[in-house]
Amino acid sequence: AIVLGIETSCDETGVGIVADGRLIGAALASSMDQHARFGGVVPEIAARAHLESLVPCVRAAFRQAGITPSELDAVAVTSGPGLATALQTGLAAAKAYALAWDRPLYGVHHLAGHVAADTLEHGPLPSRSVALIVSGGHTSLLLLGDLARDPIVHLGDTRDDAAGEAFDKVARILGLAYPGGPAVDAAARDGDPTAIGFPRAMLGAGHDFSFSGLKSAVARHVERAGPDLVVPDVAASFQEAVVDVLTRKAVDSCLDHDVDTLVIVGGVAANGRLRRVAAERCAAAGVTLRIPPPHLCTDNGAMIAAVGDLLFTGGAPPSSLGLSADPSAPLTRASLDPRRV
Ligand code: ATP
Ligand code: MG
Ligand code: FE
Repeated sequence: AIVLGIETSCDETGVGIVADGRLIGAALASSMDQHARFGGVVPEIAARAHLESLVPCVRAAFRQAGITPSELDAVAVTSGPGLATALQTGLAAAKAYALAWDRPLYGVHHLAGHVAADTLEHGPLPSRSVALIVSGGHTSLLLLGDLARDPIVHLGDTRDDAAGEAFDKVARILGLAYPGGPAVDAAARDGDPTAIGFPRAMLGAGHDFSFSGLKSAVARHVERAGPDLVVPDVAASFQEAVVDVLTRKAVDSCLDHDVDTLVIVGGVAANGRLRRVAAERCAAAGVTLRIPPPHLCTDNGAMIAAVGDLLFTGGAPPSSLGLSADPSAPLTRASLDPRRV
């Protein structure tokens, strides 16, 4: 199937066109620079930026794909979770396109999009897999079946901060650039990951996560170190603690549920150290590891088109044009059915 995907849940305006599981056109705009001085995404600024960027991005994606709207089978859009005003801009555009082109509309869960991003690189997922989602707002271990049909089972979730949120907060404590994840990743390259023994919260205690204690431990260390602070060592040691817990719990989940494939997705999956340690530990445990390339780890429209392609091809019922934004939609299925919201 040929599907247009639209993503506007946060500060990225993402558009992608997928044809039978392959990405054929994409465009991305970001309002990140406009939020930097506020230290976080400002919803009204993000929504205004989406309004400005969306139609140009759709045009650019079609140009790159070399197709016309008449060749589309469906339109897919992120309907949650995310910032309400930001989601609404993408939903309004997607509904208008679906109506004008007389094509089915699929409201898609943003996190299912993060998972499906990997299929654009590595092909269809096996019938069962474990997914580790590590993003700015979420940290979850999931048991997946067929994304288009089956419910998604949560094996574990964070009890406080998300992994990406921890990176962003620690970057701020260390005075690194916004957004924090890539800045900590870069600073850590010159640091010693064994310099400081930061806590590994909840290791050996089930599949849930906790990162707020680690963030506080970093803050305490920075306060105590004063002028002797070695930023690269703190960045590397913090990163090591996060990566250690994430990879151990992810591999354990695969073994506990007799699953041979782990897929790691979301913005934090772009982290260099996470990718390396996950590869080592999966190889040692006999688990096949799949991680999308970094540009498909962070928010984009192609991942939403990928879910739309799976839903359309799998015969899932489309959403109604009354579909509304659901800012805190729980991840129970890839598609968001308006009748259940
Ligand atoms: P969610 O998907 O939960 O709604 P989001 O869409 O804002 O949140 P993503 O775009 O998936 O999140 O990821 C952004 C997060 O990934 C940010 O917290 C960012 O700091 C983090 N991140 C990006 N690159 C890296 C990296 N190289 N190392 C660590 N973290 C990273
Ligand atoms: Mg973003
Ligand atoms: Fe995201």
